[in-house]
Amino acid sequence: MRISIVGTGYVGLVSGVCLADCGHDVTCVDLDQAKVGMINAAQPTIHERGLAELLARNAGRRLRATTDLAQAIGESEVTFIAVGTPAAEGRIDLSYVLEAARGIGVALRDKREYHAVVVKSTVVPGTTDGPVRERLETASGLRAGRDFGLGMNPEFLTEGRAVEDFSSPDRIVLGGIDARTREVLGRVYAGFADVTTIRTNNTTAEFIKYASNAVLATMISFSNEIARLCASVGDVDVVDVMRGVHESAYFTTRAAGQPPVKAGITSFLEAGCGFGGSCLPKDVTALVGHGREHGLGMPLLASVLEVNRGQPDEVVRLITRHYPDLGRVRVTVLGLAFKPDTDDVRESPAFPLVRRLVAEGAAVTAYDPVARPEGHEALVGVRLAKSLPEALAQAEIVVLVTRWDEFRDLRTVLDSLGLEPLVVDGRRILDAGEFRTYEGIGRSFAGSRAGAAT
Ligand code: NAD
Repeated sequence: MRISIVGTGYVGLVSGVCLADCGHDVTCVDLDQAKVGMINAAQPTIHERGLAELLARNAGRRLRATTDLAQAIGESEVTFIAVGTPAAEGRIDLSYVLEAARGIGVALRDKREYHAVVVKSTVVPGTTDGPVRERLETASGLRAGRDFGLGMNPEFLTEGRAVEDFSSPDRIVLGGIDARTREVLGRVYAGFADVTTIRTNNTTAEFIKYASNAVLATMISFSNEIARLCASVGDVDVVDVMRGVHESAYFTTRAAGQPPVKAGITSFLEAGCGFGGSCLPKDVTALVGHGREHGLGMPLLASVLEVNRGQPDEVVRLITRHYPDLGRVRVTVLGLAFKPDTDDVRESPAFPLVRRLVAEGAAVTAYDPVARPEGHEALVGVRLAKSLPEALAQAEIVVLVTRWDEFRDLRTVLDSLGLEPLVVDGRRILDAGEFRTYEGIGRSFAGSRAGAAT
């Protein structure tokens, strides 16, 4: 099929490259000329495992990028909208989606063949059949459902393993205003015949995405609230508590003769320094805002956000147990990406933490193996190191924020430098017993004593 995708960010580019690799002919459209040039030169614009190989295989063949929206619409049968939907002032900012819809509508005015427009961006329930439809119809002079198709196909990929997730999805949700739109979408995903596919209307498709992200965020804040109490009670470690929770048959399956298999959800039932990224914070914020517009308080999800906002303070609390005054104390923050295996720093919990440390007068050095957010407003006055040894060289305090594999070797690198800083483990991936002074989220043992469970 001939497919166009508007917006060539994490979702648009990965979808485009993977659909091209499935055999479709894909045109990626973006306003950003630099991104377009890089994609046409087969250079990845983001850090994602496997993306470079797929780009090299498809760019210039089944995949191209352009800034010319009208031409891309004219030459394709279906267009996906994959532009950003940030949260602004407690609600979703639909301006990019609506501007893309308007541009597509203008291009549809001159098109004779049937065309389907599909929203892939995460949008609050009612958006596709509401303002998106309205923009498309006004700009094109056509009617959705009669003259063109209108669908909603949420994306569930996770940054860091986006190519893998798109290529082997756990589910596919195909929303459509009518059967004809869903039939077009069915052809786009014809290569995924063995994947569970939910065919539904546009509003349900939109809701599935929000409900999916909201439950994950809730699990994380639940774990962090439990961790706070563990940290206060004494003689308990949230890691041991959650290990006991994970062993429940709800979370771990046991087949005779096979090792127990933990459900993926258990990775959200672990304490840490909070969720970030371009999805969970903004999607939960948007859902709470959407609830408010419908007269619903959404108290559970509002609390999920509140607990999350407080997590960086939990880290600072652990530090100030040892350093009540942080003036000129050398602190190294490990990890700026919101999660490992990505260069995405949007809403990373590292930033509110760094801001607090700088405000307390600490001399902060930050290091991330991949993310290089030079010029980020939260990093004013912060030294960015280029390697782990360089980042640690002078450290009196080390705070681990992102679960990068490289940081699991912290003990070895500290040994090579002959250093024994205070280590604050914001992700609970280090062995407490390896450090002279260790603090971890959700842990109330004195000193470096290991947990009780075996
Ligand atoms: P992004 O910010 O990385 O990319 C958006 C792109 O759209 C940018 O390159 C921008 O230049 C381009 N753009 C904006 N307006 C445009 C227009 N009118 N015409 C052409 N290009 C335009 O965004 P993203 O992270 O890929 O997210 C896109 C959507 O997918 C969001 O709604 C997000 O919530 C959702 N989503 C994201 C993820 C993720 O992990 N990043 C996962 C699932 C769903």
